[in-house]
Amino acid sequence: GEGWDPGAVHGYPGELSAMLIPAQALQAKIGELARAVAADHTLESPPLLICVLKGAVIFVTDFARAMPIPSELEFMAVTSYGSATSSSGVVRILKDLDRDITGRRVVIVEDIIDSGLTLSWLVKNLATRGPAAIDVVALLRKPEAVKVDVDVRYVGFDIPTEFVVGYGLDYAERYRDLPFVGLLGEHMYR
Ligand code: 5GP
Ligand code: MG
Ligand code: MG
Repeated sequence: GEGWDPGAVHGYPGELSAMLIPAQALQAKIGELARAVAADHTLESPPLLICVLKGAVIFVTDFARAMPIPSELEFMAVTSYGSATSSSGVVRILKDLDRDITGRRVVIVEDIIDSGLTLSWLVKNLATRGPAAIDVVALLRKPEAVKVDVDVRYVGFDIPTEFVVGYGLDYAERYRDLPFVGLLGEHMYR
């Protein structure tokens, strides 16, 4: 109702303006995504999940555990120059993969696709390393992403063009620990 504060119970009173995707809805969708990705792989060629740090780390742990087939896990960290709330597409690798992906079927695991510029760069970068396949699973997608020429095979939720936090997504490194996705109150960043 009117007075309900979704952040309060997690120690962020007065900071969120709304709950967007409750924890239960996230988990149900992640189960669907995990089964869909698993159906496209075989035990002989298990997917190598590439979690894009830091935002996707909460998602990938639930996702991997929901998959009915084995997977392997790698991490990559990239940064896209820009403001705190939007990206420029100029990307730099902060932490590269620890191993070769030649011949592997990789699945890039992303938290959110906004402009799609970061993902577009990442797909091109990984493609130069000779994987057998590159697919993308993104938990969230904003409308702008459709303008970018990246095929995102698996998408959890299409959301409006608003700044969201929680479930791995931060604002100035805060809110990643929330078990749901919510809207950050405008007074927190304007
Ligand atoms: P893109 O390159 O697609 O514009 O954005 C990529 C990155 O920007 C995402 O992986 C995420 O880290 C950040 N980002 C984009 N939209 C949001 C948002 O609504 N909330 C948060 N917390 N981060 C976002
Ligand atoms: Mg990301
Ligand atoms: Mg961030």
